[in-house]
Amino acid sequence: MTMAGNVPSTSADVMVVGAGIVGASVAYHLARGGADVVLLDRSLPGAGATGDSFAWIGRGTAGAAPEQLLLRRNVFEDYLRLERELAGMGEG
Ligand SMILES: Cc1cc2nc3c(=O)[nH]c(=O)nc-3n(C[C@H](O)[C@H](O)[C@H](O)COP(=O)(O)OP(=O)(O)OC[C@H]3O[C@@H](n4cnc5c(N)ncnc54)[C@H](O)[C@@H]3O)c2cc1C
Repeated sequence: MTMAGNVPSTSADVMVVGAGIVGASVAYHLARGGADVVLLDRSLPGAGATGDSFAWIGRGTAGAAPEQLLLRRNVFEDYLRLERELAGMGEG
C-alpha cells in the first residue's frame, strides 16, 4: 500500500476512496494480496461514522438465528485474525 501521508501518489493498481472501516479494510486486503493501493479521504482516516463508532463486535445473543450467530462468529474470528496480523500497529 502506498502510504505517502498527504502527498498524492502518481500511480497505483487501485484507488480506494473513503478511509473509513470499509475503505480501509478493502485497501488493506488488496495490498495484502499484492496490489499497489492508494487510499484517499476528503478528510482524515476515520473521520466519518467509523470515528463515532462504539467499536463493539457482538458475538450474538441466545435466541439469535443460527445464520446470525454464524456470521457474528466469523466476523469475530476475522477481527482476531486482524489483531494478530496488525499486532504492534498504533503503539508507541
Ligand atoms: C454513534 C455510532 C456508533 C456505532 N457503533 C458501532 C459499533 O459499536 N459496532 C459496529 O459494528 N458499528 C457501529 N456503528 C456503525 C459503523 O460505525 C458504520 O457502519 C461504519 O463505520 C461505516 O463505515 P464506512 O467505512 O462505510 O463509512 P465511514 O466511516 O463514514 O467512512 C467513509 C469515509 O469516506 C470519506 N468520504 C466520503 N465521501 C468522500 C469523497 N467524495 N471523497 C473522499 N472521501 C470521502 C469520509 O470522509 C469518511 O472518512 C456505529 C455508528 C455510529 C454513528
